[in-house]
Amino acid sequence: MDAPQEEVKVKHDPALTKDTWWHSFNADGGEAGYVATSDLEELPSEVQVALGLFVCDFKGLDEEAVNWNVTHVSKNGMSRLSGPKLLKGGQRSGNKGCGEEELWAVPKDPKHKKTQVVAKGSAEFCYLEIIYLIDGGLCPCKRCCKSLVALADRTKSVIVVRPMVDYELISKHRTELARGETFLLLFRPGVKTFLVCHTAANEAPDSPLARDLTAHPTKAWCTCAACGLAFTARFAHENVKSKNVKKDKKGDLAVTTTCPHCHVSGEMPVVREGVGAFPAATVDIYF
Ligand SMILES: [Zn+2]
Ligand SMILES: [Zn+2]
Repeated sequence: MDAPQEEVKVKHDPALTKDTWWHSFNADGGEAGYVATSDLEELPSEVQVALGLFVCDFKGLDEEAVNWNVTHVSKNGMSRLSGPKLLKGGQRSGNKGCGEEELWAVPKDPKHKKTQVVAKGSAEFCYLEIIYLIDGGLCPCKRCCKSLVALADRTKSVIVVRPMVDYELISKHRTELARGETFLLLFRPGVKTFLVCHTAANEAPDSPLARDLTAHPTKAWCTCAACGLAFTARFAHENVKSKNVKKDKKGDLAVTTTCPHCHVSGEMPVVREGVGAFPAATVDIYF
């Protein structure tokens, strides 16, 4: 007999999404806000690992419908637990509701919508503390994104959605997302906004909220105390960043360096929140 293998313990709870409708996760029908970045380094490291190992799988998907290929990936992003599993939903979302409703669950008696819930795709969302990788046809609308925010909480898991076509985040028109680029939505437990990560400049979503710029592992967004230039302090490693970003006398974050424009040296204030890519002007800090 083989020696017992070290198994990755994955928590599975069949009751986790039992008797839920898609709208159970967004009772007031509100929309989720989002932040955006074009820098893959701003994604959690385990998500970067998963993206490197599990490329988009659009097999069998209709780009004008809500349908998902769901892959269950271990918490560290390194192994496939199961999937991809194709889940079919409704057509393009309208005012009456979204195709996600039909993907998630259906009423036992279609004439009486309040009858017993028959689980469909919801049955695939019973794992705790994993990464759900969803390759999809249509990009979820902001109302469905609010459901995904709550679903990340319910499953204590990270959810990544990689759609083929967008009708809402970038513009009101159809945008077919470039296959060679990254365009994804990231939902994390305990985080009320989602993150849109896009590498194509023309796929930037139109109204992101300000994000926490201090969370970048190896960059700090600085302003020159002398000339006012916005520049990026780029560190060789996370540890180098944590050593070099310090609190100044007023308790604000600052980096002691030399401005790439006016060459004045000193404490340069760190910008905490903002929108868009880190400034192009860069100073490298190695230790
Ligand atoms: Zn929707
Ligand atoms: Zn300067």
